[in-house]
Amino acid sequence: MTSPATLIGLDRAALKAALAEAGVPDKQLSMRVGQLWNWTYVHGARDFAAMTNLARDFRTLLEERFTLARPDIVTAQVSQDGTRKWLLRTGPGIEFETVYIPEEDRGTLCVSSQVGCTLTCKFCHTGTQKLVRNLTPGEILGQIMIAKDALADWPSTAPDRKVTNIVMMGMGEPLYNFDNVKAALAIAMDGDAIALSRRRVTLSTAGVVPMIPRAGSEIGSGLAISLHAVRDDLRNEIVPINKKYPIGELLDACRSYPGASNARRITFEYVMLKDVNDSIADAKELVRLVKGIPAKINLIPFNAWPGAPYACSDWSQIEKFAEVVNRAGYASPVRTPRGRDIMAACGQLKSESVKERASARQAREALEQVQSGQLARMPN
Ligand code: SAH
Repeated sequence: MTSPATLIGLDRAALKAALAEAGVPDKQLSMRVGQLWNWTYVHGARDFAAMTNLARDFRTLLEERFTLARPDIVTAQVSQDGTRKWLLRTGPGIEFETVYIPEEDRGTLCVSSQVGCTLTCKFCHTGTQKLVRNLTPGEILGQIMIAKDALADWPSTAPDRKVTNIVMMGMGEPLYNFDNVKAALAIAMDGDAIALSRRRVTLSTAGVVPMIPRAGSEIGSGLAISLHAVRDDLRNEIVPINKKYPIGELLDACRSYPGASNARRITFEYVMLKDVNDSIADAKELVRLVKGIPAKINLIPFNAWPGAPYACSDWSQIEKFAEVVNRAGYASPVRTPRGRDIMAACGQLKSESVKERASARQAREALEQVQSGQLARMPN
């Protein structure tokens, strides 16, 4: 028999199918799905025993077949400024980070979509880690569950929630893992589940242009664009996906993003790299480029990491840059670096995971089978 599977991340239809398969009678299925959904995502139940209003034999059935397991916590760190970072693990070599950033009026969880990344943006630490694989819906949602567990942030319907906002700004490119990100965010934004308003969920992309319209119509969250340069020659160098989808095409996709309005502006992220992209001429060009788009500009002081080839712009230069943007009528908040001391700030996330070569994987799996007694000896 296979070991019990976690139910975290299944949508209602998949949950229904799993229960039917486990022998729950058809007539009861919808009711059972509703009960489980509520216990899991509103109350954050971690085991079936806690579901006290379910019949004992149903709970026993669930216990035999399923779990509500979250990813394993490898490390949990707290920064001097209260930022928290978890390194999570769901299998050999599958490690990823999640960051919680408490502020006075909100608590934002920065969620990863992939282990590693394919984009190789020059200033980003994650970009130095090769893609291992996409995270599953359960692994993406599991990050939210872990944070809510650790912060005692259940039930989801409580008035003073700790996780109030989600940003898909952790490791990876969410639009290269569209289906799984969509499935996880659907549960995060489901009013009968984690119940975060779509206004408080933001997906950030380096510019996977063909997926941007679908993000708007199918996910419906807010959109952030990692722009970082105003000329194609420079953007080609520091955000290499620009060679495929240049600035003009990216901004066209933003202009027609479904649901963008003055009340729901698109955020343009702009990392401040000393003497690279931080001149006043750059600021003026930025304002010219986003003309006609309901936009706000988020200036991000560059966060250093070991071996990074850039320095952060001087504070006085960041202020001058922000002033140009601001005078043109755009909000230009400078993102306060958070959690730098635990390498939790923007662009600092990375795990040790590397993609296993097929031969190494086969050897490890065989060894694990031997250890668990499923195989008498190592295959040749
Ligand atoms: N791949 C997506 C999601 C990552 S979001 C994207 O690119 O949008 C992480 C944000 O932090 C991006 O805007 C990224 O460009 C920015 N970032 C990366 N490295 C950084 C660094 N060293 N300092 C500051 N911001 C950085």
